[in-house]
Amino acid sequence: MKTIVLGAGVIGVATAYYLSERGCDVTVIEREPGVALGTSFGNAGVIAPGYVTPWAAPGMPAKLIKYLLKPTSPLIFRPTFDAAQWRWIARWLRECDLARFRVNKQRMQRIAYYSRNCLHAFRAQHAFEYGRSQGYLQLFRSDYDLELAQPALDVLRDAGIVYRELDAAACAQVEPGLHWSRVKPVAGVYLPDDEAGDCARFTRELRAVCESNGVKFIFDTEVLALEAAGGKVTGVRVRPVPGREARNRREQRRAPAEVLRPADLSEPAANAAPQTLAADAVVVALGVESAALVAPLGVRVPLYPVKGYSATLPVVDEQKAPRAALMDESLKTAITRFGPYLRVAGTAELGNHRTTLREQALQTLMKVLDDWFPHAATPSSAQFWVGRRPMVPDGAPLLGASGVDGLWLNVGHGSTGWAMSMGSGRVVADLIAQRAPEIDLDGLTLERYRR
Ligand SMILES: Cc1cc2nc3c(=O)[nH]c(=O)nc-3n(C[C@H](O)[C@H](O)[C@H](O)COP(=O)(O)OP(=O)(O)OC[C@H]3O[C@@H](n4cnc5c(N)ncnc54)[C@H](O)[C@@H]3O)c2cc1C
Repeated sequence: MKTIVLGAGVIGVATAYYLSERGCDVTVIEREPGVALGTSFGNAGVIAPGYVTPWAAPGMPAKLIKYLLKPTSPLIFRPTFDAAQWRWIARWLRECDLARFRVNKQRMQRIAYYSRNCLHAFRAQHAFEYGRSQGYLQLFRSDYDLELAQPALDVLRDAGIVYRELDAAACAQVEPGLHWSRVKPVAGVYLPDDEAGDCARFTRELRAVCESNGVKFIFDTEVLALEAAGGKVTGVRVRPVPGREARNRREQRRAPAEVLRPADLSEPAANAAPQTLAADAVVVALGVESAALVAPLGVRVPLYPVKGYSATLPVVDEQKAPRAALMDESLKTAITRFGPYLRVAGTAELGNHRTTLREQALQTLMKVLDDWFPHAATPSSAQFWVGRRPMVPDGAPLLGASGVDGLWLNVGHGSTGWAMSMGSGRVVADLIAQRAPEIDLDGLTLERYRR
């Protein structure tokens, strides 16, 4: 079966991998010159199925109002006239109810645990390095924040997930670098089975595995529209990204197998007309851009971009640096160790579609690092990044059938797409290959927005 995967973030590449394992003829289309250059590039790297939590949670609306009034805040909100933003917020508020929270969290955990199993099975077959570390420590700065975490802890307890509640001294035993912290946590929660790793590095390695399975990658190519006839998607309209032709031709001379282009390669960019690539099945994995592409076919996906930021720094003092992944629960900012580097990531900025760096967000990241690991890295060495999380209001991704024949979704992974990537890719590939998915998909498809 000829399948086209749109988007080469971690979600698209994981889907391509499982489709190739199912014997499909797979082509991936991406507008960037490589894989994982969108939201999958600079994320916090945490794979914590026990912790995956909808942002719509009891107490969150009050907490957000409090955040908006603070200078150092994990939340930035720019109200706009965009009706989609207000629809998204209204639905998000409805999902903050305790009963909804529990349902949503359990759905997210179902796909996240499955995904971790898929990742482990994959790793047993393909051993490559991607900055992996074991264990995940949540730090609480105040009793109020600890109290807000109780519903999430109840879900962990009910599900039998292994976790330990720690005092400040025990936190420093797990992460000895905390002995040098400027602030002390009132408490911590440690999840020993959770892990972290560099998502972009993993995706690059996964691309190589895909290519050895015969997957074709077409880079520097923009998806313009879906083509449909008789209620079925038949192909994808694409066009080379203008201005990248000269560089691509140079790359092709260097590494012809790595960079493929759809059009006649001798055609100059300015004259390159859009063209249609035919397919039996098309998987949309365009992250935040997915909703706009499927809307003309009547497929309504309640996706909204929520910007986040990260800083990556080389570790300068091993003893005073984190060993694995931590989360400052109060400022919703993660600190993760990737080999010789550490990454600080967080902030939710709603209402801004542009990918410009915002000083206020970068200051929050650097403050969190300075509070917990002041001697681990040199602030001036920080490489900053901004990405857009593809968020749905209730948290769980939308996997599988779109309602239009031949069109499949793998979207809406929000703040936990890396943690859900392998499982989501496998589920969607199984559905396309007409195999029964290994997990129950109730609440993980677009169907829940049609009820
Ligand atoms: C600050 C931050 C921290 C995060 N931390 C974590 C974490 O710790 N753990 C976790 O699990 N997740 C985390 N996430 C979320 C995670 O990064 C995302 O859920 C995940 O990367 C989404 O992957 P994706 O493949 O759907 O999207 P993307 O990686 O954005 O991939 C979509 C691709 O589609 C391409 N594309 C878009 N439109 C077009 C078009 N028209 N034509 C061609 N190509 C197109 C884009 O260039 C892009 O490469 C974090 C996100 C942020 C921002």
